[in-house]
Amino acid sequence: MSSQEAINGFKELFGYEPSGVWSAPGRANLIGEHTDYNNGFVFPFGIDRRTYVALSTRKDMNVRISSSFADGVVEFELGKRKPKNLDWALYPLGIAWVMRQHACCGFDAYIISDVPVGAGLSSSAAIECAVAVALNDVWEAGIEPQKLALIGQEAENDVVGAPTGIMDQTASLLAKKDSAVLLDCKSLETELVPLGLDSQGLVVAVIDTKVAHRHSDGGYRVRREACEIGAKKMGVESLRELSEEDLPAAQEKLDDVTFRRCKHVITENRRVIAAVDALKRRDLATLGELLLQSHASMRDDFEISVTELDVAVELAMEVGAVGARMTGGGFGGSAIAIIDESKMELLTEHCKAVFAKKGFAETNVFAVAPSDGARREA
Ligand code: ADP
Ligand code: MG
Repeated sequence: MSSQEAINGFKELFGYEPSGVWSAPGRANLIGEHTDYNNGFVFPFGIDRRTYVALSTRKDMNVRISSSFADGVVEFELGKRKPKNLDWALYPLGIAWVMRQHACCGFDAYIISDVPVGAGLSSSAAIECAVAVALNDVWEAGIEPQKLALIGQEAENDVVGAPTGIMDQTASLLAKKDSAVLLDCKSLETELVPLGLDSQGLVVAVIDTKVAHRHSDGGYRVRREACEIGAKKMGVESLRELSEEDLPAAQEKLDDVTFRRCKHVITENRRVIAAVDALKRRDLATLGELLLQSHASMRDDFEISVTELDVAVELAMEVGAVGARMTGGGFGGSAIAIIDESKMELLTEHCKAVFAKKGFAETNVFAVAPSDGARREA
């Protein structure tokens, strides 16, 4: 996938040269799941799979937008009304809507991507952030990356209708090569932490189970509501304000399901900080253990895993991964594993064989490299 392909596609479709190409990566979350909307900590990195948007401004306020992912061209007039019922085009048009005070002209855009869709690697943030940096440039809006992340989140929450947190867009915009982004979702402070996997011959493997999830569907929303109810009953603004010392009191006050949802978030926040600390000390054994604990917490307490993800984690550990866990919002998608690069082939074959034997969909196993965030390409 390259800028040139985006340029070629644009020219074929619209019959003229785009004024530029912008791109943004998908992300993998190392640890810190469903903590973002609870004002907690997350630790994602940008991956070397990106969404490219070739774009040109127009003299009128019209938008024509197309993606290799879907047939046809979606047309829309900016400024008249909020976009709705436009399927995938709500992601880019949602960005344009949230940035509407800067909208000085319409645009034509063509989008290509090699971020797998619905695999828990945030193809949604990749498309939002690629469009956001493109419009920020061509509309000369001068918006800082962290503010663009909030714009991406607002587009996804308010226009697409998926109640997701701020993690994905922050990762896609602020990521740096060979590093992960520690994000405090309360203060929105970030710290880039070098991963140093390369020097130890390690990679992050993604095991895409091909079980599709959709955030606009119920599961994610219901989990979010449980966290809100838990925080309210505990008398705090968000679960971020609670620590493991509060767990006995929470168990008294909350029903069992709400308690377990809150327990996941509270313990996960501690695990994120511990994982960053372990990484800084180069203590990979501890990091691996934390990933496994995080997975167990999502499986048993937050109940957002699926059998395929549990099996993927087990298989990664069987071939000698340092640690593994499901990543992303859950109910399908991908698991990640930190693993010796030399074991990638073994992992791929093991997953393929066992998934076939169990009658699951065929997995897609690949390594991802921590990569730079959204940028102008051409
Ligand atoms: P994830 O972010 O985990 O991949 P989501 O359900 O959050 O899954 O987002 C996937 C949706 O984002 C797709 O169904 C589609 O509507 C939109 N999308 C993502 N990438 C593209 C793309 N390249 N072109 C068009 N739409 C896209
Ligand atoms: Mg998404």
